[in-house]
Amino acid sequence: MVVARVFGKSSPEASRRENDRLAALQQLDLLDTPRDEGFERIVRLIKQIFSIDIGIISLIDGHRQWYKACSGLSADEVPLDDTFCRCVVDCDEPVIVQDATTDARFLKHPAVTGEDHIRFYAGVPLRTKLGHMIGTVCAIDRRPRSFSSRDLVILEELAGAAMDRLELMQSAATDSLTEAMTRRAFKQEAEQLIALALRHQHDLSCIVFDIDHFKQVNDRHGHAAGDAVLKAVASACTATLRAGDLFGRIGGEEFAVVLPHVDRDGAVAVAEKIRAAIASQPVRSDHGVLHVTASLGSSALSIVSKEIETLLAQADAAMYQAKNGGRNRCVSWSSIHADHAISARRRVLKAGSILFNERRSTIDCTVKSLGAESAGISVSNTRGIPPEFILAIKGEGFETNCRVIAQDRQHLEVAFR
Ligand code: GH3
Ligand code: MG
Ligand code: MG
Repeated sequence: MVVARVFGKSSPEASRRENDRLAALQQLDLLDTPRDEGFERIVRLIKQIFSIDIGIISLIDGHRQWYKACSGLSADEVPLDDTFCRCVVDCDEPVIVQDATTDARFLKHPAVTGEDHIRFYAGVPLRTKLGHMIGTVCAIDRRPRSFSSRDLVILEELAGAAMDRLELMQSAATDSLTEAMTRRAFKQEAEQLIALALRHQHDLSCIVFDIDHFKQVNDRHGHAAGDAVLKAVASACTATLRAGDLFGRIGGEEFAVVLPHVDRDGAVAVAEKIRAAIASQPVRSDHGVLHVTASLGSSALSIVSKEIETLLAQADAAMYQAKNGGRNRCVSWSSIHADHAISARRRVLKAGSILFNERRSTIDCTVKSLGAESAGISVSNTRGIPPEFILAIKGEGFETNCRVIAQDRQHLEVAFR
């Protein structure tokens, strides 16, 4: 969606707050992590306590509101510009709308005028112990209603409980559904294996993979079938790995592998084995037998890529190339590197803008990885974004011309020009 907001309008103070907020969110590293029953319980409680239709716990990055848990709506995420929660972010305090049809800020909002029929909204900040707002906790209803100061205290307490759980999750080492390592534990162990590989000068490589069209599995067969697929994919992968390899669930349906003593060609061979194991494994569910595939990207330790964040960013970029190339395939970072002369990259989390149409059109984005010559960018929808544009990072004075080298529905890989 092309929005009308003028880039550069926000004050230096607002830009600084936004940068600090995203830095805190990046440090927690919980965006796009798997569903969790503890958070589902809190959103169900929100609905029951206030007798309302919708409860949400969300994390907010540069361009979207991502639902860590949501009861009463089917979406997983929404563009930030389309949300009531944007107001909570902008004013950095709770927002209560008793009847959206009488509130000038929202009465023409599509969620109010359209079939969602939203009338009441109460949103409070989800804050870290240092006070950075990383998301919101909301109570939403399809009828107008009042919200007492006691109700607000209860919602803020529930936001506090959600934050405590987010912080507690930092210590979890294993994902309960798939038995893979959690993202944080995976990265910590990977850092140690990389340090060993550098000290003893042996090879090490990394694979990232993402299940193809997984949303369709959930939509057509339900979440239980989706969970069965995740378990089967994880077990197909572990069956092909060796005891010393690391295997982590780094997103909802995104996994990563670290292979010590394996060079870039070896990683391509392992990736191909994992791809074939997933594609050939039928998954039994209540809806019959399902078949899924995955797209894989690989990268290898080198002079310029010696941090797990860099290896993951490179393998990610290669994985998006595999998606772009038709899915159910493996791509090595080294092959993209040769084509586009891309140097090392780090995973980051920065609020950005995509400017085109002689700067008349602006689209909010989140810069997910950044190097001297290229970047990986997430947007709500890549449709309508031209092959060349200006990328700006808000509050950092960073602006550069970009050329798209690969793209998926919500992701762009760009080379700087
Ligand atoms: P693509 O081939 O481009 O990867 O398409 P996709 O549909 O797999 O892509 P997308 O990333 O849009 O969809 C991922 C979906 O994974 C969205 C979310 O509902 C689902 N998901 C994430 N975590 C879980 C989980 O723990 N269980 C289940 N059942 N679904 C999950
Ligand atoms: Mg995905
Ligand atoms: Mg997917």
